[in-house]
Amino acid sequence: MTEELFREDPTLLECDARVEAVDERGVRLDRTVFYPHGGGQAGDRGQLVLADGGAVAIADTKKGEAPGEIVHVLADPADAARLLPGRPVRARIDAARRRAHMRFHTATHLLCALIPHPVDGCSITQEYARLDFHMTEPLDKDAIEAGLARLVAEAHPVSHRWITDAELDASPQLVRSMSVQPPRGTGRVRLMEIAGVDLQPCGGTHVANTAEIGAVGVRKIEKKSAQTRRVVLEFRD
Ligand SMILES: [Zn+2]
Repeated sequence: MTEELFREDPTLLECDARVEAVDERGVRLDRTVFYPHGGGQAGDRGQLVLADGGAVAIADTKKGEAPGEIVHVLADPADAARLLPGRPVRARIDAARRRAHMRFHTATHLLCALIPHPVDGCSITQEYARLDFHMTEPLDKDAIEAGLARLVAEAHPVSHRWITDAELDASPQLVRSMSVQPPRGTGRVRLMEIAGVDLQPCGGTHVANTAEIGAVGVRKIEKKSAQTRRVVLEFRD
């Protein structure tokens, strides 16, 4: 299993690592700062810097078939020949892309606090974030934007802690998402808390304070189905 440095410190942009395996799907490392696509959040991009100073580009990061497996997808599959198992690399993510993911991801938690309905879809990218809410009532764009601006301005601290699967089972109301269940099987679940605002299991990367989200607004609100309202967020800076 790959050591997931991004879980404890999402501000880490690079780390030393060792190649464990390489195949046509990509590269596996003993530890990484690359977040694999999951929980609605897009995977990181970046590069692996080699001992000779050269670098190979990583186009995406995905979860592998085995639990805890993280696959760094090579932009050019031919680069696999340059990454032999056992070789040291410096893993470095695209900082601007990750920063956007962290800001948007934290903003989606604020949206959950403002719209108290179950979530049945989520996508967080560098350009936008969208959340689908299971609800039939219309949504007020101006009210949502004002709510987001208020929660950002109030500068709420964002933190995480780990609880056991049993503790989560005892508090099912913590699970806001209908489509994405928190990852299980390791015996513990990561709980994200925005003090006084939102509390839910989440494995993604977030900023440390809602003030870091900055200027964010609602690009559009769509009625995706009779039971679903989609909210798309964008940056305003
Ligand atoms: Zn989250």
